[in-house]
Amino acid sequence: MKLFSIGPVEMHPYTKRLGSESIPYFRTEEFSQTVLGCATMLSACVNAQDDARVFLLTASGTAAMETAVASAFTPGDRVLVMNAGTFGKRFCDICDVHAIPYVSVDLAFGESLTEERLAAYDGKGITGVLVNLTETSTGLMFDAPMIADFCRRNGALFVVDAIGAFLADALDISAMGIDIGIVSSQKGLALPPGLSMITTTDKAYRDRIAHAPRKSLYFHLPDYEADGRRGQTPYTPCVGIILQLEQRLQHIQEEGPDAVIAHTAALARQFRKGILELGYTLPPHPLSNALTPVLCPKNDAPARIRALCALGYQTTPCGGSLSESMLRVGHLGCLTAKDHADLLEAFLQIEA
Ligand SMILES: *Cc1c(COP(=O)(O)O)cnc(C)c1O
Repeated sequence: MKLFSIGPVEMHPYTKRLGSESIPYFRTEEFSQTVLGCATMLSACVNAQDDARVFLLTASGTAAMETAVASAFTPGDRVLVMNAGTFGKRFCDICDVHAIPYVSVDLAFGESLTEERLAAYDGKGITGVLVNLTETSTGLMFDAPMIADFCRRNGALFVVDAIGAFLADALDISAMGIDIGIVSSQKGLALPPGLSMITTTDKAYRDRIAHAPRKSLYFHLPDYEADGRRGQTPYTPCVGIILQLEQRLQHIQEEGPDAVIAHTAALARQFRKGILELGYTLPPHPLSNALTPVLCPKNDAPARIRALCALGYQTTPCGGSLSESMLRVGHLGCLTAKDHADLLEAFLQIEA
């Protein structure tokens, strides 16, 4: 089965080989060096500042979203959530659980965020903005510079879930003015699920997180900060995935993160051209390179996903109101132009 899913995605052969090896004991100088190396390479990949903090959490991306929000905000804050689908809604749910006051800026399917929509919240006491740079449920890509500008003029903390965007779309933590960024192992990094990373600027860490009240035993970031300085974590991490991360980041460093993004962008362009020629349509909002949301004119997405599966291609279903009308094709991971040409051929076959 060839995976055009959106996470987990096709892993690189070297990642799989490393995954078959034994897990070493981890309270060692050698493993500390691995962790520190990962933090340095990851920071370089997203252009975080030299004094940025990188936290490795053994948990899926949602836990990192929750940890970031719960660590940075209190019931005294008022945050703006950009809510364009499943993952925007998740930020709202996290705020609800942690009693963090928020306003949800709801975008209908196909709609994009406008300057006017944001400007309505100028001077309204907003202390933070939460956004999924790529809203993976619909493929919408948000305009980070526009939101960063809002954060700057309002003195609001800019928290970005870049899980879908990382290594698919440009992500420059410094240039985009991102205070807290979140990525996860099973998307662009093409690693097994289970490892998530939070980066914060030094200022965001000191002002917002270092003295935050403890809300959780496991997810209390100051504990990670203390151990992290020597390349360790408070609890047993996913040692194997961290070793795979080190190896993968070394490959990305050699290739250059821009080249990885350009490869994904080229696959997305190739696929979109082909699928439009077959009579499918795409939603009107700006699209991430990570995936293509494909609208099925006959509202038969589940049947098409099954037919593609039978031919050996795993595409991704949609939830809720989009489940019949749309399927999603991922471009992340170890995929080539040939793989995409084959998938388009399969789409043609299932027409018959
Ligand atoms: C995949 C993804 C997540 C993380 O989901 P988990 O299932 O918790 O790993 C969060 N945000 C976005 C935008 C994603 O694409």
